[in-house]
Amino acid sequence: MSGRAAGGPVEGLLLDMDGVLTVSWKPIDRAVETLSMLRRRGVPVRVMTNTTSHSRAALSGQLRDAGFEVAPEEILTAPVATASYLRAHHPGARVYLLGETGVAQDLEGVTLVEREPADVVVVGGADEAFTFHNLNTAFRMLLSGAALVAMHRNFSWLTDEGLCLDAGAYVVGLEAATGLTAAVTGKPSTDFFGSGLEALDLPAGRVAMVGDDLVSDVLAAQAVGMTGVLTRTGKFRQEDLDRSAGRPDHVVDSIADVPALLGLA
Ligand SMILES: [Mg+2]
Repeated sequence: MSGRAAGGPVEGLLLDMDGVLTVSWKPIDRAVETLSMLRRRGVPVRVMTNTTSHSRAALSGQLRDAGFEVAPEEILTAPVATASYLRAHHPGARVYLLGETGVAQDLEGVTLVEREPADVVVVGGADEAFTFHNLNTAFRMLLSGAALVAMHRNFSWLTDEGLCLDAGAYVVGLEAATGLTAAVTGKPSTDFFGSGLEALDLPAGRVAMVGDDLVSDVLAAQAVGMTGVLTRTGKFRQEDLDRSAGRPDHVVDSIADVPALLGLA
C-alpha cells in the first residue's frame, strides 16, 4: 500500500507523541526501534504534540530518557504555536492562562496576568489548575470582552491509570456559557500543521501524520492534504472510529507498522 495517490510517495513524517511514542513516558512497544530505523534511513521526522505540560527542552529530555533521540527544535508544541499566534493576532495583550505554567518559557513575548483585566484567555491542557475559581475567573474575563484561545480541544489522553478528561470538555463549556468560539492553536489548527510541513520542508502530499487522536491528528491532517495514519495505541478506541463519519487513510496496530505501510522500511 502507498500513501495518497494524488501526492505521490510519502517522504516525511509528522508524529504525535503521547499515545504514539509513549504512554506516561514509557515507550510504546517497538516505537524506539522504529524511530531509530527511520532516522538511519534518513526519513525526515518531526514530533507534533498538543502536550501543554512541558517545554520543548523538557520534552526532549523526557523522550531521551524513554529511549528516543529527538532534539528540542524537532518538537512542535501547542504552547509554542500559541505564543506565535498571540504575537501575530494579539500583540502586547494581557493573557490569562488557564492551566499550570510549566510552559511559560515557551510562551516567549507573552504577558501573563493573574487577574482582570485580561485581553485574552488561553486554555492550556487540563490539570490541577482547572479549579472552579480559575474557570470562573476565565468566564468573567470572557464576559468582559477577552478573546478565547485554546491550545487544543482534545477530550482525553491516556495515562497508565486510564483515560483522563482533557481541556476540550472545558472549552466546550466556556463556549456554551459565553457564546464565543475558541481559536485553536495546536492540532487540529491548519496553521499548526502548516508549521510542521514547513519544518519538514515538504508539501502536504509527501507527508504522513501518525496519531492516536482520530479527529485532531488524523482527520485534520488529511484535511490539509497529508496522508493520515491512525494507531491503535494510546487513547484509540474502536467505538470512536466506528461512530466517525470521517475515515482515516490507514489504521495500524502501532507506529512499528508505519515504515512498511508507507514504503519507508
Ligand atoms: Mg496522542
